[in-house]
This record gives sequence, C-alpha cells and structure tokens, in this order.
Amino acid sequence: MTSRGDEVAANLEVVRRRIREACADAGRAEDDVSLVVVTKFFPASDVRLLADLGVTDVGENRHQEAEAKAAECADLGLRWHFIGGLQSNKAAAVAAYADVVESVDRAKLVAPLSRGATARGAQVDVLLQVSLDPPGADHRSGAAPGELPDLARRVVEAESLRLRGLMAVAPLGEDPRTAFARLAEVHRELEREHPDATVLSAGMSGDLEAAIACGATHVRVGSAVLGPRPAVQ
Ligand SMILES: *Cc1c(COP(=O)(O)O)cnc(C)c1O
Repeated sequence: MTSRGDEVAANLEVVRRRIREACADAGRAEDDVSLVVVTKFFPASDVRLLADLGVTDVGENRHQEAEAKAAECADLGLRWHFIGGLQSNKAAAVAAYADVVESVDRAKLVAPLSRGATARGAQVDVLLQVSLDPPGADHRSGAAPGELPDLARRVVEAESLRLRGLMAVAPLGEDPRTAFARLAEVHRELEREHPDATVLSAGMSGDLEAAIACGATHVRVGSAVLGPRPAVQ
C-alpha cells in the first residue's frame, strides 16, 4: 500500500477504536453505530482507499464535488450521504446520486428531492437536519425543533423519499453533551410519531464520544480519518 494508504488505515483504526470504546462506555452494542467518513475536499483516490479498508458510507457537502466523485467511484458500491447546505434548485440533482440526504431543513426541498429520486427510480433516505442553537441565536443550518412535525409529514407523503431520522451538528461554544442530550429528546419525540425514523446522525471528529453517549446511530467523521482539510473553504 502507498504511504497515504498506510496513513488512512492507521487513522481509521484509531477512529474505529474510539467508536468501540464509546459504545462500551455507553453500554451499547458496537454495531449500533455506523461510521460515515466525510470525504469533502479529498480526492476520489482517497475514497477508493477507504472502500478497500472496508468503509461502506461516505459523506459530501458540496453538490458539484459530490456528483463528480460519486460518478468516478460508481463501481465501489458505496452509500453516498449528502450532508451539506442544500439549495432547492440543486436538490433534484443531489437525489440523482445520494443514497441518504441528511440535511433536509425546509419544506421547499421536499418536492425537488422527490422528483429527483423518482426520476432515478430509487428510494432516497432522508434525515431532517435540526438546529441545536438556542432559540433566537443566529441560526446555523437546521430546522427549529418546532418545525419538524410538519417537515416530517411532508417527507413521509412524498414519493420516493423515506423518512429515516435526524441529523445535527453541535453548536459552537456549548458542551456537546448538553446539546446532544437535547437532540436525543427531540429524536424521541419524532420517533413517537414516526417509529421508522430511528437514525440519529450526530458526532464528528471532535465530539463523537459525546454523540454516542447520547444515542447517535451514525457518526460523520472527516479530519480524524483523512487529515486536516485545506484552510480555505
Ligand atoms: C465536515 C463535516 C463533518 C466532518 O467534520 P470533521 O470535524 O472533519 O470530522 C461532519 N458533519 C458535517 C455536516 C460536516 O460538514
């Protein structure tokens, strides 16, 4: 293997051990938590290395980059997660390659996603992205918790979309455990109405332990596996 391959393999081993230990600490089964490796800003050659190392799920946050990489890596049989801010005029195109769209945060996205998924002849899994910022804060992306029941209903009613759960990012400047505990409560409420919405996507390189302690079923890890991204985004 190349030295890049060795580096990624070693990083991946560390992340997999962190997930195992966090599951043990939380009294959860190890296979409760799936790893999505976030490959944004890294080349398709890295995606190939990851597939060789047994990674099954990758995440991207920009449409053009994701579309190109998914096409280049179509032979690998990976599940592509779209995790970035989504424009409604790009949503149908995203549904043409994404297996999971994790960042659905407003009603306007539902119809184009549904159209794109139907045109592709596939079911696309949808996670609603919820904002964990305190009310009144300068909102990062994500729906307010109060907007979720309506958004969930629209996804359930849309052709070719499957409501699978929630995604969130811990706010800056707050202990992630506090934020993820709040998220777990929001998730329980969603599951009461939608028992199939079992997925909770939370936790990144810096806070995956806190997320797993609070019930995350998917962690999205980029830099801890692939190294630092270029500073200019
Ligand atoms: C980039 C990104 C990640 C991965 O972040 P790391 O800190 O590199 O692990 C996870 N989730 C989202 C939504 C992202 O945009």
